[in-house]
Amino acid sequence: MSLSEFALIDRYFRNCGIKRADVRLGVGDDAALLDSPAGCDLVAAIDTLVSGIHFPPASPAASIGHRVLAVNLSDLAAMGATPAWALLALTLPTNIDEPWLDEFAAGFAALARSHDVALVGGDTTSGPLCATVQILGHVPRSQALLRSGARPGDLVFVSGTPGDAAGGLAVEQGRLNAPTDAATYLRKRFLYPTPRMALGKSLRGYASACIDVSDGLLGDVGKLAHASGCGVELTYEAIPVSEALVEAVGDERARELALTGGDDYELCFTVSPANVGKLRQELPPERWGYGLIGAMRGAPGAMVKTDQGNVMEFSHSGYDHFRK
Ligand code: ADP
Ligand code: MG
Repeated sequence: MSLSEFALIDRYFRNCGIKRADVRLGVGDDAALLDSPAGCDLVAAIDTLVSGIHFPPASPAASIGHRVLAVNLSDLAAMGATPAWALLALTLPTNIDEPWLDEFAAGFAALARSHDVALVGGDTTSGPLCATVQILGHVPRSQALLRSGARPGDLVFVSGTPGDAAGGLAVEQGRLNAPTDAATYLRKRFLYPTPRMALGKSLRGYASACIDVSDGLLGDVGKLAHASGCGVELTYEAIPVSEALVEAVGDERARELALTGGDDYELCFTVSPANVGKLRQELPPERWGYGLIGAMRGAPGAMVKTDQGNVMEFSHSGYDHFRK
């Protein structure tokens, strides 16, 4: 690559995303100066995508730019927060070319613009391809959705159709041959996930707890249950799966992927029985795209039962980087 580090930052990242009045100083100095709103908690999250671990090395550059921001936005959605600012640490191999950077920056910028996020700084180094975003945002003081607020008896909901991204990754890696339309849909769900920002924010005041599903629904709802000091029981038949995924892998495997696949970036949340009527009325499930999948229990652990009461077993409940 012929660009210097400085020229690269200037060209691709100085004006990425939107301009915000609350950025007093953005890209260019040693650090950014940000004007944090009064009466809010500052919300911060960071996530890294490593080539070959979080995406196939040959993934479209636009998808990598989109995903590294999307996974962070999703963490803020899970907190019920509004995103504002992002920092981007990029490690680029020397063979990365300008068309690749153009595409990467375009993928990042398109999603940043659609969620009013300003890129206010970062770091650029050379080495194996890796992208990290730190996202900053806010939430009205003490109103953030936590993992720890669920109680036995609360109902459990999930947005969208989990499992699609795991199907899409399999298509992307040539491990799954699906009919063309299904394959296109599933790939898109892996490459360009949709963080559920509006839903997350709207759940403030309704949800007792919330988590975004990044490592597999069963494992992630288990984390929520653990943080809340209770357990959870999901209903196998209630797990929502897309037609495309069922077409590609069949009903049984689709439900298994929905429960144990990763990279969905849907929201899983709990609502106390007292709030469910209000939730359904004010955030109609058909319009907001979520469904009931189970309930919290007093006994610890996460289990899946069929309508007949049989316990389903899965070889694992989600992705773990350190599992041997
Ligand atoms: P320093 O050496 O002081 O850390 P850098 O040369 O790394 O400064 O960065 C110069 C400016 O460019 C800083 O404001 C930094 O935040 C910004 N920057 C560097 N890399 C990126 C990037 N990938 N995206 C956005 N801003 C970046
Ligand atoms: Mg630096």
